[in-house]
Amino acid sequence: MSNQAFPAIINPRKWAEKGFSWSGELPLSHFARLCESLQGSEGAVKAQLQFGVDEEGLRYMRGQLQTQVTLICQRCLTPVVKTLETELSMGMAWHDEAAAALPSYYDPMIVSEEQVELLPVLEDELILALPLVAMHDDCEVQTEFGEPVQSEVDERPASNPFAVLAQLKK
Ligand SMILES: [Zn+2]
Repeated sequence: MSNQAFPAIINPRKWAEKGFSWSGELPLSHFARLCESLQGSEGAVKAQLQFGVDEEGLRYMRGQLQTQVTLICQRCLTPVVKTLETELSMGMAWHDEAAAALPSYYDPMIVSEEQVELLPVLEDELILALPLVAMHDDCEVQTEFGEPVQSEVDERPASNPFAVLAQLKK
């Protein structure tokens, strides 16, 4: 099943029992929900997926996802490119209760029907891998005038009304 077209809909349990795997690239633009948080949707997601049944008889999907995304730096407010990389280790469960009983090294993958859309499952994992706050490794806070902001600024009153009055009197 390697290097074939991406399987949009799979039967995860059957894939686990057969030990199927899939690897390939998916356009980032296919991940519409993820792209809502991004600046642009160019690029590709590299995916490597391995299905199987472990020693305890639990069906799993393991693998890796990797892509590069453009976010807005929360410090200088310009685009910053970040690598998203996430390791998948998902145990299949029919419902929430069974999911709660999975060993802690598995993230639950609720598979309540035979057929599952694979892409949204991968997309959820990528969204979870997004940094809470994206920043360049090295940049400075910019004001609209392009000058670094002093840290004390926040503690001062926004403006001094008497200063405005003084200006008017001149
Ligand atoms: Zn920055």
